[in-house]
Amino acid sequence: MTAPVVGVLALQGDVAEHSRALQACGARVATVRTLAQLASVDALVLPGGESTTIDKLLRRFELMDPLREQIRTGLPVYGSCAGMILLADRITGGIAGQQTIGGLDVTVRRNAFGRQVDSFEERLDAPALGAAATDPPMRAVFIRAPWVAQHGPDVQVLATVSTGPAAGKIVAVRQGALMATAFHPEISGDLRIHRAFLRLVSQR
Ligand code: GLN
Repeated sequence: MTAPVVGVLALQGDVAEHSRALQACGARVATVRTLAQLASVDALVLPGGESTTIDKLLRRFELMDPLREQIRTGLPVYGSCAGMILLADRITGGIAGQQTIGGLDVTVRRNAFGRQVDSFEERLDAPALGAAATDPPMRAVFIRAPWVAQHGPDVQVLATVSTGPAAGKIVAVRQGALMATAFHPEISGDLRIHRAFLRLVSQR
């Protein structure tokens, strides 16, 4: 069996970083900008960037509804940061008219950590991601990041912030074939999140 092709949505955001991380995990990677490209991938990554911009571009390129349909029929999708916002069924702190793709039964709060703290690194509790006691701790990079303020019963919490003022906040989740992180593993060089997503893809 050939390895699945993982698409990276390439409308805006840190596309190259995700592509490199996926390739480092042994995945076949393709950038996705068109309907035909979307139809040809086995899974999709929504990169970090600016959720309002990606929302507008998804609608302009007529990818929004096809993507919603693909998710409804089981396409595995992983979103980081802006990608998490795009996968949320509900958001707070959005701009007027901002839409999401949806699929994850969560309420995500945009810019939740406060605008004054643009970028920081935090340690996570992430037992469900194979971060065992003997493994190096998972450190995550947050950039104007959201968190999950509320979630439905089918949502599995994968990681929470372990220390500091945001301790306990939910920053990684999974529901069925959908996975999302508030942070940027494509920047930190920790491949555990991408590996977890690729395991999920191979199980579908
Ligand atoms: N604050 C951004 C947004 O709302 C997300 C930031 C990021 O992806 N690093 O889209």
